[in-house]
Amino acid sequence: MDKLMNTYGTRTLTLVRGEGSRVWDDQGNSYIDAISGIAVCGLGHSHPAVTRALCDQAGTLLHVSNLYNIPPQGQLADRLCEQSGMDKVFFSNSGAEANEAAIKLARKYGHAKGVDSPIILVMENSFHGRTLATLSATGNRKAQEGFAPLVEGFVRLPYNDPEAVRAAAAEHRNIVAVLVEPIQGEGGIRVPTTHYLNQLREICDQNDWLLMLDEIQTGNGRTGRYFAYQHNGIQPDVVTTAKGLGNGVPIGACLARGRAAEIFQPGSHGSTFGGNPLACRAGLAVMETLFNEGLIERAARLGNWLLQQFEETLKNDPKVIDIRGKGLMLGIELDRPCADLVAQARTRELLINVTAGNTVRLLPPFILTDAEAEQLVTGVTELIRDFQ
Ligand SMILES: *Cc1c(COP(=O)(O)O)cnc(C)c1O
Repeated sequence: MDKLMNTYGTRTLTLVRGEGSRVWDDQGNSYIDAISGIAVCGLGHSHPAVTRALCDQAGTLLHVSNLYNIPPQGQLADRLCEQSGMDKVFFSNSGAEANEAAIKLARKYGHAKGVDSPIILVMENSFHGRTLATLSATGNRKAQEGFAPLVEGFVRLPYNDPEAVRAAAAEHRNIVAVLVEPIQGEGGIRVPTTHYLNQLREICDQNDWLLMLDEIQTGNGRTGRYFAYQHNGIQPDVVTTAKGLGNGVPIGACLARGRAAEIFQPGSHGSTFGGNPLACRAGLAVMETLFNEGLIERAARLGNWLLQQFEETLKNDPKVIDIRGKGLMLGIELDRPCADLVAQARTRELLINVTAGNTVRLLPPFILTDAEAEQLVTGVTELIRDFQ
């Protein structure tokens, strides 16, 4: 492993196999994967429907370029549009690339209406990816450190503050879009007030801006609706997704609606691998399974239950500042840094995550059984109770 660039620090656990909600290490120990590969494996590991689709497609046609029609790509785009109310899809290989497509689209939208130097509004504490443009959009100084000069054309505002967005409209003439997460994931499972997205929709309409939602983490059923904006009954102009879309096969998507769907023309954008037959078959199998097995409703129910349980079991612990989330995207914020909990959780056969320094982040798979959910509550509760 010493020939790998040191981007992920020292890794002390070696996972070699997974099935359902569990993964196994090279010593034969098993764990409940309560982060689903960071919001990727909503269907758990080795889901038979995904495995079947991948094996079938691998033996039929792995890849052809986007110079040709790719039937599974068209089918997945149809399915995504049907579920989202969006009109058109561009496929990428990752979340950052889906956001790159959205950023390019917003700029081209601006230029088309005579804005030479378009600005996209982005939020504090946001996370949009690690490429230069998406890193520039990201609201995390530490992640940006050492990479100057960053890409220009972003103005940063506080999250969950529609007044700040209104004020920006008065201050800058060349704003063309707002890029925002419906719930901030990496930023610490920050859930905005109920009507935040509705307010942003209204401001964007008033100013002729695109509302662009980064649903890379919140999408694909994670919050208990296919996309999180569906809780608000609004339609964005652009929505990006990735993570859960392929249950582990790299695929991302940038969806657009109305005039935003007509901005890219031949030559505007492209990708060698994006939307290839294998990745799209995975995406189709994931969508079919989510809907056929009622897993999005399960994510909503299980999420409510977990939230209630933690509120009950942790209510007398003064270390716990807040318990929040939607669907199976849950955060437990402590009054102190708690990165050490990640290693401690392993001794209880749990894989969890800590984000924003002091927030336990849980992103379990939707197929988590009731017994596993109980194990998760007991384990995490005791870990936090015993934590110094
Ligand atoms: C993970 C994530 C990204 C980046 O996706 P990659 O596939 O790692 O490039 C962007 N935005 C949000 C909200 C994310 O959670």
